[in-house]
Amino acid sequence: MDISYILNELGEDRSQYFNAIAPPIIQTSNFAFRRVDDMGKAFEDEMAGYLYSRGINPTVDILRLKLAALDGAEDALVFNSGAAAIFAAVLANVKAGDHIISVRHPYTWAQRTFDVILPRFGVSTTYVDGTQVDNFVKAIQPNTTLIYLESPNSWTYALQDLRAVAALAKSHHIITICDNSYCTPLYQRPVELGIDISLQSATKYIGGHSDTVAGVISGSKAMMKKIFDSEYLNIGSGIQPFNAWLLIRGLRTLPARLEQSAQTTRRVVDYLKNHPKVEEVIYPFDPGFMQFELARQQMSGAGGLLTIVYNAKERAQIVRFCEALQHILMAVSWGGHESLVIPRCASITHQNFRPEKKEHRMVRLYIGLESADYLIADLDQAFNAG
Ligand SMILES: *Cc1c(COP(=O)(O)O)cnc(C)c1O
Repeated sequence: MDISYILNELGEDRSQYFNAIAPPIIQTSNFAFRRVDDMGKAFEDEMAGYLYSRGINPTVDILRLKLAALDGAEDALVFNSGAAAIFAAVLANVKAGDHIISVRHPYTWAQRTFDVILPRFGVSTTYVDGTQVDNFVKAIQPNTTLIYLESPNSWTYALQDLRAVAALAKSHHIITICDNSYCTPLYQRPVELGIDISLQSATKYIGGHSDTVAGVISGSKAMMKKIFDSEYLNIGSGIQPFNAWLLIRGLRTLPARLEQSAQTTRRVVDYLKNHPKVEEVIYPFDPGFMQFELARQQMSGAGGLLTIVYNAKERAQIVRFCEALQHILMAVSWGGHESLVIPRCASITHQNFRPEKKEHRMVRLYIGLESADYLIADLDQAFNAG
């Protein structure tokens, strides 16, 4: 399906709403019936019609159709956060006694699910270095039901060979989930590589304006129905109509924003690679990146997220650099219009800071929609302070 068609037309029937270009926000909790039998049918299968907005809502439906098509998936579900999307997708695919294999250092709240919540219900997790497929092979146990991936990782950009891990999992009847937040479906389509559930934090690029928190999962109709009938309705964290509307609006400009951010990032990366205060630039589409070949194979682009290893002897230098930035804002998240910085050492005290450890000197940058010159000038003056 043509991407322009998906973003501009799919799921929209303007004759239903005064030929308005922008779809309406159907801000309702419930839907009325004229016939008892119609109500009965809606009770039987909540996914099939409009009954109550914790389930299906027309504005959310437009978004679902678009996101599923972008992923090359049969269906999608949209949640009130990426964390809720992760939780629902994982919970739906484990029971007491099961075993999960997760890539090492997944997104914080995925890791908390594995480390804090699931052990209470007898589900255990093994973490593996996902850069080698063999590590997954070795970690499989008779009770392994789920492999959890994140490619690229959102700090180190470590990749997994999605096609190979998906094939391995299928041969053992293991479900695979891949966090695709870094790439969005524009730059990588895990479902087409054989992954069962692709997920992303829509808070990042899909929303694109730092004004909405949301998450999405996509996959087969059967898998989405299974999750809808249980975790989606039961956790009750489906996206609300207004936020769905904001994401539909975000999707209109997604290709333009991503491309702009990626282009500016290439210039910023060139600048950073030549700066003496930068020991290393970690960016999946940089030829020096350790998995550059795999990145080029399974991703069609890299966005605006990159990490530098700061050439510092003391934590204070990194602190001075970050605090000297005038336009690049210090904040979590990414994917919006505004460039951001986040130093790893924010969560490492002065006493615990070890300059010999590369991770301690990592500073993550997100390059937004400002001009390259504007951002490079800001970085330049901040490096002078650091
Ligand atoms: C932000 C993020 C999430 C969580 O999404 P929220 O919308 O913040 O709940 C999950 N995975 C990755 C890689 C993220 O960056």
